[in-house]
Amino acid sequence: MSTIEIKPDYYDDFHCIGGECSFTCCQEWKISVDRDTKKRWRSITAPEDLKQNERLPEGLSEHCSLNHFIKKVDDTDVIGLLPNMKCPFLEGDHLCRLVKDHGEEVLSVTCHEFPRETHSFSDRTERALVSCCPEIVDCWNERKELGFTGLDIRDPEALRNAPENDTLKLTRDLMMFHLSDKSSDNRTNLLTAFFILMDIYSKGSVDAIEDYTDPASIRKLKDSIVNLERDAEDSLTERNELFLDMTENYAREGRYTSFLKPLRDAAENFNANDLKEFQTVISSYETLLRNYLVSETFSNLLIPGMDLRDMVLQFEWMMMEYASIIHSLYLQWISSSEHELTYETVRNMIVLISRLTGYDASDIEEYLTNSFESAIWDFGYADYLLG
Ligand code: SF4
Repeated sequence: MSTIEIKPDYYDDFHCIGGECSFTCCQEWKISVDRDTKKRWRSITAPEDLKQNERLPEGLSEHCSLNHFIKKVDDTDVIGLLPNMKCPFLEGDHLCRLVKDHGEEVLSVTCHEFPRETHSFSDRTERALVSCCPEIVDCWNERKELGFTGLDIRDPEALRNAPENDTLKLTRDLMMFHLSDKSSDNRTNLLTAFFILMDIYSKGSVDAIEDYTDPASIRKLKDSIVNLERDAEDSLTERNELFLDMTENYAREGRYTSFLKPLRDAAENFNANDLKEFQTVISSYETLLRNYLVSETFSNLLIPGMDLRDMVLQFEWMMMEYASIIHSLYLQWISSSEHELTYETVRNMIVLISRLTGYDASDIEEYLTNSFESAIWDFGYADYLLG
């Protein structure tokens, strides 16, 4: 096993704050249960007082084993939620009853590891913390820029000298390099990175690494991107359609209703107003959103087994997520009587949209194939979406 480890420099500091959490992961979500846990749960009896506390799911008896709490949803084994969308094992103090009774070992892999993800490659192990947890968003908000142990994402020389045979890692690191650029805004960085990614994808290699990291060439590319003609209101309308489409299933299933209902009502009665003022307000969260994009790229753009095409699809998905976060913030801001956008709202929207869009690669491909002429976009659509 490789001893090379790459991880964010705040990785070891993360602790779940459990009962103090403002947006617990034990509610509304599909909490998957792996095969080994399912087997183990056959011999563990459910906590005794669930019925008394009105947390025994319909159809289950008081002394049944834990595996009876598992349901199949979209072909995945998950913990069946109560009608109020909470996990039956979530106590009033926001702590997990299973952990109280049996210790951490009883948990499924998802519950035990979340929000950590580990990706093992032949030459290294990468450890990430994902955006679905508010504590992680707080970590990004406290930092002017993200740092990684085992990876310098801001050093062009390191990219030029990286081994050429690992095209996928070099491509991912190059995307992080461009997304972390503080000299331009997030939209310009995303479009610059996407343009380069499409070039690499069409050639099948990173032969032009000198050009992709040359300050003069990049400045020229960014100037062309900034000067493209755009209709900001058209783009806002496109993001509104996308937001409605991406949240439709969750709204139908009654998940995240307290957030989605007002947002979807605002989206359904949408008028493109005060866009310039909103852009000024959102610009104060530019650093947080940059950190979000860099972290997402690290954790999602390169997963073992992916190829270049998968990376393009993941990048498009990340742009859709980003566009949806920005749009949900616009809807929140335009609907608030004082036209306010607090940090707590921004954090909630990052967590919410990340949870809603946490699809696996095959679901992402299916969504993109069904929703667009081609799953691989042309540059013009990315520009239109982020407009
Ligand atoms: S969302 Fe994060 S901090 Fe909140 S309960 Fe889950 S792991 Fe803990």
